Formats: sequence, C-alpha cells, structure tokens
Amino acid sequence: MSRYFGSKCRMCRRESTKLFLKGEKCFSDKCAIERRNYPPGIHGQRRRKVSDYGLHLREKQKIKRTYGLLESQFRNYFKKAARMQGVTGENLLLLLERRLDNVVYRLGFSCSRTEARQVVSHKQILVNGQLVNVASYLVKAGDKVSVRERSKKSLRIKGALDSAMRRELPSWVEVDPVAMAGTFVSYPDRSDLPAEYNENLIVELYSK
Ligand code: SF4
Repeated sequence: MSRYFGSKCRMCRRESTKLFLKGEKCFSDKCAIERRNYPPGIHGQRRRKVSDYGLHLREKQKIKRTYGLLESQFRNYFKKAARMQGVTGENLLLLLERRLDNVVYRLGFSCSRTEARQVVSHKQILVNGQLVNVASYLVKAGDKVSVRERSKKSLRIKGALDSAMRRELPSWVEVDPVAMAGTFVSYPDRSDLPAEYNENLIVELYSK
C-alpha cells in the first residue's frame, strides 16, 4: 500500500490549519502554522483566487489528511456513509472517529494518529480484552480499549498518556491512566466534532 513520506507540517500549511499530525510539537511554538501560516512553495505567499472546486477539494483533503487516510480509503468511507441511514456527511465523520487508531489517539495512548496506527499494528492494543491489530477496526459505543499488559511499560505510550492527561480529553471517551484502559463511551454528536469541518462540501464533491 502506498504511503505519504513527505513533510507533515507541509500538509497543515497547505490546508492553512493545524491538523495535529506531529504530537507535542503541534502544541508548541515550533509548529509550522504558528511560524509560517501560508501554503508551501515559492508562490505560497501569493494571493490566489480559490475556485469553487478548489474549496471543495481543500475541505476533503483537510479531513482526509487529519485522519491519515489515502484517497481510496477515504472514498470507501464516503460510500459506506452514503449507504447508512441519516446525514451522509455526519456518518462519514462518525465512521472516521470510530477507527481504532483514532480512538487510541483520542484516549491518549499515542501522541498522533500515525503513532496510534503503529501502536495498533504492533499488537499493543486490546479491544474488550481481545487483541486487535487492525487500525481500521470500527470501535462501537461502550467498547473498552486498553493497552496490552506487556506494553504498559512502553515509554512512548506512557509519555503520550502523560501529555494527554495535561490536556482535555474528548467528552465521548473515558480513560483510567493508571490502568491504561479507556472506554469509547458513546458516538460523538456532530456538535462534539470541530465546527470548522464542512463535511457537506465533501458530499457535494463526491456527488458531482
Ligand atoms: Fe501541523 Fe503539527 Fe506540524 Fe503544526 S507541528 S504544522 S499542527 S503537523
């Protein structure tokens, strides 16, 4: 499977917003958005008129990159969301939030979604007591997600958890930092997710 090996901060600069792809650095003044909040490249500081298509594309790229997905994966989530009952855009965000790598990140067991994916694929995570090493596994409301016993000494996980505990956890998860275990309490409402996401633009883009 192909992967993006380029600069993560460059992606944030392209989307002109923080995508929180690099853990602690994203909360420091070393963040590239704090320093150079304009698109990368030699013409980055030029004022450019954005087309209607450009607006739709940027919104899709922003959310796709936030969750660290490739185009084909993202499109599959969209198709799945469209088949579900309810509002397609909201279904899409919910599916993305339910991914195991995202839940591991939300619980604070990793400092970024990329690291969460590694933690999951390295067999360090249990869901309801069972080992799950598939990052795209969809977590259900009420599921217990915990760090495997032998991984509880991992300095990387401990460090991430310590940092997460200093910040506010999302309202739809609960975590016991001592036990290194948490619960995906409920599915987040649209109002719980960032207001700046405009998922309707993605629906319009893919419906064209
Ligand atoms: Fe984005 Fe984090 Fe880099 Fe800032 S430090 S530009 S939020 S990846």
